[in-house]
Amino acid sequence: MIEDKNQNKTPLSELGEFGLIDHLTKGFKIKHASTIKGIGDDAAVLDFKNEQIVVTTDMLVEGVHFDLSYMPLKHLGYKAMVVNLSDVYAMNAQASQITVSIAVSNRFPLEALEALYSGIETAANMYDVDVVGGDTTTSTAGLIISITAIGYVNSKEVIYRDGAKPDDLLVVTGDLGAAYMGLQVLEREKEVFKVNPQNQPDLESYTYIIERQLKPEARKDIVKLLKDLDVKPTSMIDISDGLSSEIMHLCKHSNVGCDLYENKIPLDPQVISTCEEFNIDSTTVALNGGEDYELLFTVSQEDFTKIKANPNFSIIGFMKEKSAGMHLITRAETSIPLKAQGWNSFNS
Ligand SMILES: [Mg+2]
Repeated sequence: MIEDKNQNKTPLSELGEFGLIDHLTKGFKIKHASTIKGIGDDAAVLDFKNEQIVVTTDMLVEGVHFDLSYMPLKHLGYKAMVVNLSDVYAMNAQASQITVSIAVSNRFPLEALEALYSGIETAANMYDVDVVGGDTTTSTAGLIISITAIGYVNSKEVIYRDGAKPDDLLVVTGDLGAAYMGLQVLEREKEVFKVNPQNQPDLESYTYIIERQLKPEARKDIVKLLKDLDVKPTSMIDISDGLSSEIMHLCKHSNVGCDLYENKIPLDPQVISTCEEFNIDSTTVALNGGEDYELLFTVSQEDFTKIKANPNFSIIGFMKEKSAGMHLITRAETSIPLKAQGWNSFNS
């Protein structure tokens, strides 16, 4: 899990900027008819006919968003893609193109960037997107990755944050809190490794939560599933910062309130057992941990029967009038105001 420092390394200066881009992207294939021109000219050319275009950008900074002492570069490339694609799916759109830009210091050899780009290529194939451009440049310290994802959606199908109505059901996909607990385990093992580098960690009982941290997936499947079920959410957002703050975004943009039920929040057994081990409250982790990349949406009560028995969905609350406020209804049936702490507060 820790970087191997003893491999043969090729300094980036051997390739030069143009040689580097060519080298890193040479195996990438164009799959979409909407990609008229990909990498290789001054700009990419795309043609989406009558669809609306969705564009989203994210930047990941070493030491802020990722730690290379336990994040393999291939996983980092994959995760950087997933983080962006998740935002496209949160609009109920299909992702089709990506641009990837990196700033990298000379401590990274060519082989490190090859690993990063192999993760990018794996994700591009997995999620069926074309890499159509990007840039590489030098940074004085550390690695910075900026990805722009482009997608398309029919104007009647796009879903914003602002459409939730009182009485709508609040629904979340998958389970929550695993990526945050995976990070706690990795941070702990990093500290152990510093003290005793011979000590190989036994991570057997944490495989799911570590995978959720190192190799998350975006819910492309949910966009299709909702279509198949003939359900159009009234509002939608992806969970990057934690359930609590995403609920507050939906409420604020839609001018509604919300009751969230603690006993309905979906948790994997590994999250529950790891929370017990770390003596952390699992609800707090689900509310504030973040990096789940699940989708959070609201649907009208009429759609209840279409989603109630589907194992992909958990109905976790319902929307109210704005004046009712935003509350967590605890297992003890007390009502406490929701707060958006985000993941930062955990670190202080
Ligand atoms: Mg988002």
